[in-house]
Parts: sequence; structure tokens; C-alpha cells
Amino acid sequence: MRIFFDENKKELKAVTCNKCKKELKVENGILKEGCFGADVLFGYFSNKDGSRHSFDLCEGCYDEMIEGFAIPVNEEEVTELL
Ligand SMILES: [Zn+2]
Repeated sequence: MRIFFDENKKELKAVTCNKCKKELKVENGILKEGCFGADVLFGYFSNKDGSRHSFDLCEGCYDEMIEGFAIPVNEEEVTELL
């Protein structure tokens, strides 16, 4: 869950893991911890009919989630971050 200072959602104030409620480290509007941010729009062919879901998971909860996958996540090394 993300909280912003402004209505345009540009200046990040806080990020809390939706699963365990851990407060992630945010400094000067920049998230300084590993975080899985999900934002999905379920269309007309889903059972949620146009509903948008968004949530954030801390790195620990993300790791727990992907441990349950039958097919592991694709993983590749990225050298240029940000
Ligand atoms: Zn968590």
C-alpha cells in the first residue's frame, strides 16, 4: 500500500507491505528497499469485471509467494539499475 503526499501521486510518503504490514524504507520520496508492486486491471472477461487491484509486498513476502510457484520465476541479471 502506497501513501502519497499529493493527490497526483507523484511524491511518495510511505509504502507498507499489504501482507505483513511492514513499513518499507522511504527517504525523500524514494523507496529504498526491495518491493513487489502489483497493479492489475481485471477486464470484462474476468470475474471481477473492470476492477483494478493494486498492492505492495516486502521482499520477504515476495519470496514466500514465489516459493509456492510450480514454475519458478524468470530471472536474469540486470546491471543497469534505475
Ligand atoms: Zn511483507
